[in-house]
Amino acid sequence: MKQISTDIVIVGAGLAGLYTALNIDSSKRIDVIVKESLIDTNSNLAQGGIAGELDFVRENLDAHIEDTMKAGSYLNNAEAVEILVTEAGDNIKRLMAFKVDFDRDNEGKILLTKEGGHSTRRILHSGGDSTGKDIMFALKQECYSRDNIHIHENMMAIDLIYSDNTCFGVSCLNKTNEIIDFIAKNTVLATGGIGNIYGSTTNSSVATADAIGMAFRAGVNIEKMEFIQFHPTAFHKGNGVHRQKFLISEAVRGEGAYLINSEKERFMNKYSDLLELAPRDKVSQAIYREMYDTWTDHVYLDTRHMSTNYLEKRFPTIFRTLKREGLTMGKDLISVSPVQHFNVGGIKVDVDGKTNMDCLYANGECASNGVHGANRLASNSLLECVVFGNRIAIDINKQITEKVNFDSKLTSFSSYQYNYKPIKKKLGTIMDEYVGIVRTKDGLNFAKNEVEKIESNLEKYPNNSKYYFEALNMVQTALLIINSAITRKESIGCHYRIN
Ligand SMILES: Cc1cc2nc3c(=O)[nH]c(=O)nc-3n(C[C@H](O)[C@H](O)[C@H](O)COP(=O)(O)OP(=O)(O)OC[C@H]3O[C@@H](n4cnc5c(N)ncnc54)[C@H](O)[C@@H]3O)c2cc1C
Repeated sequence: MKQISTDIVIVGAGLAGLYTALNIDSSKRIDVIVKESLIDTNSNLAQGGIAGELDFVRENLDAHIEDTMKAGSYLNNAEAVEILVTEAGDNIKRLMAFKVDFDRDNEGKILLTKEGGHSTRRILHSGGDSTGKDIMFALKQECYSRDNIHIHENMMAIDLIYSDNTCFGVSCLNKTNEIIDFIAKNTVLATGGIGNIYGSTTNSSVATADAIGMAFRAGVNIEKMEFIQFHPTAFHKGNGVHRQKFLISEAVRGEGAYLINSEKERFMNKYSDLLELAPRDKVSQAIYREMYDTWTDHVYLDTRHMSTNYLEKRFPTIFRTLKREGLTMGKDLISVSPVQHFNVGGIKVDVDGKTNMDCLYANGECASNGVHGANRLASNSLLECVVFGNRIAIDINKQITEKVNFDSKLTSFSSYQYNYKPIKKKLGTIMDEYVGIVRTKDGLNFAKNEVEKIESNLEKYPNNSKYYFEALNMVQTALLIINSAITRKESIGCHYRIN
């Protein structure tokens, strides 16, 4: 077993991880652990943009706060929302200083778009619909230029190293399944989403709830796991068997696209005054109802009243991808259906990203600071990664750098040979069917029984491999979701119960 001693270990190199690293004093050594390659992140996939007011105009900030609270059914932490919105401008300007070029008009003015739940245009975007990719490219370049940031690809964090409620780093597996312990004064968890627990998701394949699993096993508080956001408009391929679904950004509706059902009728007027730009929970639930009523598994996004030239320029990635599927935006109907998209809850943190374990922080999609309430407002998650990443960095920068000695004594455990692939598949089927957009008491209890059986089998057959730990994290997190969903009997936000 090998040990690496550092000042800060950050698990994850999405926006939450890299932006935190870049705001920590360069006098401190930072080791960034990355499960696969740097490109595999949800951050990289973000299309629509990042929400935020660049100027401190109280009226505009209040409107962003109200939209965020309303989308979250007012279950949000008001202090965290105030911070998210008021610190947006400075952090977005810092992204620009890191050379992120947001789209501008011919006069150099930043172009803003709108998505579901936003009362005004306040979303910045880049490359039309490649906001995440462009931000991540710029941040990676900045990280490479810093001598204090050491990035380790193909290194999977498997468990926290802790004692007496203090975190001393993480144990990792390298590509050849050797254990490497990173011993650090501070640890930041930023492993992103949980999407692959579900059969269909918009998430990257690395989104397997790893930080939540690790935190859970170490007794760290986790909250609001019942709130799983389903994106209303993932591209629905006829055979429907692909795990990772291509997202058609909400910004397409923001620019004027409609939703129509299989009978070619526009339907959102039956469900919300905001029509296609209602918050995601409302739109996904409406689509679910329409699919049920019309006996089908998809609805359509209608852009036929919009200009093909404009759509190609405004949404180049989506346009190109659909073209490869034989569809032309502005001419053809696009079949869409809701799929798992975002984990609203997660590792409970305060407004400085601190968990209930000393020296352990969490940021981004794996964390829950309360900004999203019961449902996330579109384009607030990239913003969350930067605002709270900066606050974690400020907190760490205040501390004196000191080396930590800890003998982690990790024992290597028995390695059973077991095929974990069918477990993931079975879990996805159960979660889609019983813990999806619409939930019932019986369905949730059935899911609980089935997933508990899978968990007890897994625990009997531990294995020193990435596949084992991913399966364990997914199953344990699925149980956290199910148990929270059973406990919350009322429907609110993206948790919808019919009994
Ligand atoms: C298709 C899509 C479109 C989206 N569009 C938008 C949008 O327009 N605007 C918006 O605000 N939000 C959007 N979101 C949501 C947003 O992109 C994510 O919530 C956000 O990027 C999460 O950032 P993160 O850094 O927390 O996680 P990620 O970006 O997913 O990064 C996670 C990192 O953790 C690493 N990791 C995971 N497990 C381990 C482990 N065990 N050991 C080591 N490393 C590990 C991964 O390798 C990766 O580097 C979108 C999401 C998707 C999927």
